Amino acid sequence: MAAAPGHDARPTDSTTAGHPMVSLAAVNKHFGPLHVLKDISLTVQPREVIVVVGPSGSGKSTLCRAINRLEPIDSGDILIDGTPLPREGAALADLRADVGMVFQSFNLFAHRTILDNVTLAPMKVRKMKKAAAEAEAMALLKRVGIAEKANMYPAELSGGQQQRAAIARALAMHPKVMLFDEPTSALDPEMVSEVLDVMVSLAQEGMTMVVVTHEMGFARKAADRVIFMDAGQIVEQNTPAAFFESPQTERARSFLASVL
Ligand code: ADP
Ligand code: MG
Repeated sequence: MAAAPGHDARPTDSTTAGHPMVSLAAVNKHFGPLHVLKDISLTVQPREVIVVVGPSGSGKSTLCRAINRLEPIDSGDILIDGTPLPREGAALADLRADVGMVFQSFNLFAHRTILDNVTLAPMKVRKMKKAAAEAEAMALLKRVGIAEKANMYPAELSGGQQQRAAIARALAMHPKVMLFDEPTSALDPEMVSEVLDVMVSLAQEGMTMVVVTHEMGFARKAADRVIFMDAGQIVEQNTPAAFFESPQTERARSFLASVL
């Protein structure tokens, strides 16, 4: 994946000195009686890659959605690049634009071409001119290896190509951090690596990333830290090598036994 001219995956350094890129302090979230995030505290440093693992229902997706306030929280604080995440309004839209998100289900606009999918938000939110947005979108599509698909519609692409388009779309906003929620779990097995390869390159280029995935190969290759969640709590965190070789809790051991 060649770096696109003028597009650096790294956040602008002037804004990142001295504080974490993402910081959660005592975050709580309930769905009715269900306590889904229990006093979650977590900091992600600039350029750090965090892999989040844990059983289904442990709160991984809710954590991702909380980080860009797709999901409101009940209590606690979330800061992006040192700025508290506002609860609503234009300031929230601005800050949310700093957080790129890639979902399991691609979420591309079905009735827009791939190129339009990538240019829409930069034109609308970042007020980019169409020609500039398209030039950058083409560079990003080239970077994720699907430039020749620019004028096609999502349904004309394979799942792996759609997911790479979704990554290009997120990168077009120049996010400070990228969140990935099980980005390969809806893909046919032969398409998993083409998406993971793009993510590994992003990590190597210094993008700050929070990745929910059970792809242990990706975790070993790209993660600085693995977070193990269970029942709404961060139960364990460690380097990938230490976590996989010597999990500290029974819960982590039985989880690893079930996925490896
Ligand atoms: P994970 O991504 O780890 O599988 P989720 O964050 O999706 O877990 O879900 C955590 C818990 O919250 C689960 O018990 C799930 O059923 C519940 N949950 C998630 N979203 C909602 C919702 N919108 N309304 C009610 N319960 C929800
Ligand atoms: Mg989930």
